[in-house]
Amino acid sequence: MIKKIALFIALSLFALLTLILYRAYNFTPAPAATLTAEALAPQQNELLPSPEVIANHLSQAIQFRTISHEQKASSASTEFTAFIDWLAKTYPLLHQQFSLQRLNDYTLLYKWQGKQSDRAVLLSAHYDVVPVTGESDWTYPPFDGMIAEDYIWGRGALDDKSAAIALMEAATLLLSSGFQPEQDIYIALTHDEEIGSQNGARAVAEQLRSNAVNVAWSLDEGSFVLDGMIPGITTPVASINVAEKGYLTLELVAHGQGGHSSMPPQETAVSILAAAIVKLKENPVPGGLEGLSKEMYLNLGKHMDFGKRILFANTWLFKPVIESVMGSLPSGNAMLRTTTAPTMLSGSVKANVLPTIATAKVNFRLHPRDSVASLTEWVRTVIDDDRIDINAIQPAEASAISSSTEQGFIQIAQQARRVHGDVIVVPGLTIAATDSRYYGQITNAYRFNPMVIDNQDLAGFHGINERISIDNMTKAVSFYIGLMRSQ
Ligand SMILES: [Zn+2]
Repeated sequence: MIKKIALFIALSLFALLTLILYRAYNFTPAPAATLTAEALAPQQNELLPSPEVIANHLSQAIQFRTISHEQKASSASTEFTAFIDWLAKTYPLLHQQFSLQRLNDYTLLYKWQGKQSDRAVLLSAHYDVVPVTGESDWTYPPFDGMIAEDYIWGRGALDDKSAAIALMEAATLLLSSGFQPEQDIYIALTHDEEIGSQNGARAVAEQLRSNAVNVAWSLDEGSFVLDGMIPGITTPVASINVAEKGYLTLELVAHGQGGHSSMPPQETAVSILAAAIVKLKENPVPGGLEGLSKEMYLNLGKHMDFGKRILFANTWLFKPVIESVMGSLPSGNAMLRTTTAPTMLSGSVKANVLPTIATAKVNFRLHPRDSVASLTEWVRTVIDDDRIDINAIQPAEASAISSSTEQGFIQIAQQARRVHGDVIVVPGLTIAATDSRYYGQITNAYRFNPMVIDNQDLAGFHGINERISIDNMTKAVSFYIGLMRSQ
């Protein structure tokens, strides 16, 4: 009898192992549906952007200090106006043939009239930049727009003047070839993305909505072709992001007895608050490999080595393992769930005085699976202490999730692969806030810049030595030409 049981167990284990390995063996990428022969073939009458012209134009654009400051008053509006004048002077053909609306003074909404114009697409970039810190650490001064070592250097080189200039170059080349799209193309260059998009992208979305423009989809920043940035994957990955996280700060206010610190009670406002923060640390917001995160990682898993494919091909068995490994990495954790980050604390104003209130601000980045209301309620339940008030500050819901099977996504994927070769395309999630949170309210919003970046490039993002290669810039122009031609 015991032998039979042992045999049965051995056979079961063997069957299980076979199934796991079989699934892993067959867990390979489908032939790239997004890569058609047409997309791979050189386009007829291909327009060849001039790398020198493009690099020079981006260099000039970087030299305008279009810096967005949190305090509006210090925005140097003359720099914004000068940049707008420079655009008109540098791209005269475009300014003759497109209609242009200025929204809230500095955001530009161009319209390229199509032959049929029963629908439209929106291509967008922002031309404001974040301030520079540590200027002396830059290899080249951040607002010189140096062209050196096959790169264009300076604030905005990646984020996001490169896209703004690439859009202008692409449209100009197409215009000079006599091209007119079938459908309307709107190009928005916004001016306040770095401080919340209140007057830029929001106005663009409102304008299009109030004019009842049938916008099929929009494309704006939010990710890149990521080279060597996803653990376990050597092929570059074009992450075309279909959603972005929301933003919520909760202020926790703990109440306690004040008094002298020489004879403190068992519980003080500070200890009550500290206990709440510990509870939030010990209870990550529920999340997991599901929905968009699952779609993204199962796609990526097919390109990993056999060992990892065993895990991703058998999520029915290994989901908890994958989630625990991903959850231990900050970047992986941010994809799986709403993140929790206590950032500001305050208590008494004097070392020997007990505070009557102690406050903490906790910043959450909302995964699309959570809402401001559901998350706030969840926090209340976890803390479970009515001596603590919870107030929401600056809540912004996560975006809707745009389709990854519709035309817009497919066209963007096709052009990314035409320009950058056999890259992996996945739908992804932007973990910061972008202009697209307003575009997502009127259409399928996609978030992707058509340049390849690696970890070194990424360090320049809001950091020092921001730069883009001339090759990348030229390919970006080619990408937008292909995309505009498809409309
Ligand atoms: Zn940006």
